[in-house]
Amino acid sequence: MRLTDPRPHLRGLAPEAALAALAAVGAPGSHGRRILARAIRDDSDDLLTLPRVPKAVLARVADTFRLDRLERVESVRDEVDGSVKHLFRSPDGALHEAVWIPLLRPDAATVCLSSQVGCSLDCSFCATGRLGLRRNLHTWEMVDAFLQVRRLSSRRVTGAVFMGQGEPFLNYDQVIAAAEVLRHPCGGGVSGKAITLSTAGIVPAIRRFTAEGHPYRLIVSLTSTVRERRASLMPGASRWSPEELADALRAHARARGERVTVAWVCVAGVNMGEDEALGLRRLLGDVPLRLNLIEVNADPRRPSEAQLQAFVDLLSPLGSPVVRRYSVGREKHSACGMLAATRFSAAVPARDPGGEERAPAEPSASTTFRRFLPSFSVPRPTRSGT
Ligand code: SF4
Repeated sequence: MRLTDPRPHLRGLAPEAALAALAAVGAPGSHGRRILARAIRDDSDDLLTLPRVPKAVLARVADTFRLDRLERVESVRDEVDGSVKHLFRSPDGALHEAVWIPLLRPDAATVCLSSQVGCSLDCSFCATGRLGLRRNLHTWEMVDAFLQVRRLSSRRVTGAVFMGQGEPFLNYDQVIAAAEVLRHPCGGGVSGKAITLSTAGIVPAIRRFTAEGHPYRLIVSLTSTVRERRASLMPGASRWSPEELADALRAHARARGERVTVAWVCVAGVNMGEDEALGLRRLLGDVPLRLNLIEVNADPRRPSEAQLQAFVDLLSPLGSPVVRRYSVGREKHSACGMLAATRFSAAVPARDPGGEERAPAEPSASTTFRRFLPSFSVPRPTRSGT
């Protein structure tokens, strides 16, 4: 495989661009659609035997485009919740993850995709943040991760969530192109409403996403309404104040005419007090919300049941649905970022969610956490799997 292959990847172009590029090499209209469907919908690398398209055209297409794949290095199944985390290696050696997640409906699953190799935002409760940013993932890498996970799935894959490693809105164009590929009939065939983008709160990108009118769902991690506190929990995302973030959410809710989903990473003793409940009412009391509470998975800041219930009670005047989420794959070091983290380096310092650095140097399951999963309200872990 050519590591510096300059050709465009056939699975890495937004569908309209791919069809235009195919037309330019002699495969317009239905010929182009058939080729694209063969490569993505049918997940095949064999273009040359495609019927009803001239062989000379297929040979030109095969010469013009790359079709190489990610290498699947390792897969780890969580016996408690049934999720399967897959570690992939790109042609340049970059490691990144995707997670197969069984949904409550017994025949359906979704795929949690990474958008970057590592992440620059350094959220204090996240293993990936401790890796730093290596690079953005290309569209074809996200699409191929989805296809490979789907191929291994014993259930129908009905959705995709950009909620793995990285900040999707810091790789906006490639992520949106990947989402377009996933929802195209010649691509993943996933409904736009079943594709979710999760952001730590990159305000200009939220505004752009709103203005562009994409059909995808949005989850925004707020996690504190107090500027300094949010800066200690989510330093990289705190360039914009909670007020600026709230304004962008308000505009999004108005433009879409629907609730916005706000994720809240619950850290005991840090962001579960009355000041935060009042802050939410002050900032977003006029916005239709859905609140996703996610327990930080790091002792000693993991909230107890009583603390969570107390926070839910404090939030009740807001009148918004409050849903508890859990981080899939917490067993066996397989929460988001862990598989790649343990392969990248054994010297990634763990940080207490309150902000203080502490040992051990090697990431452990007890120091991991990822924000979580929109449509998988999972009151009880499922045991079904691939
Ligand atoms: S939680 Fe998300 S945005 Fe924050 S460091 Fe981790 S991957 Fe990056």
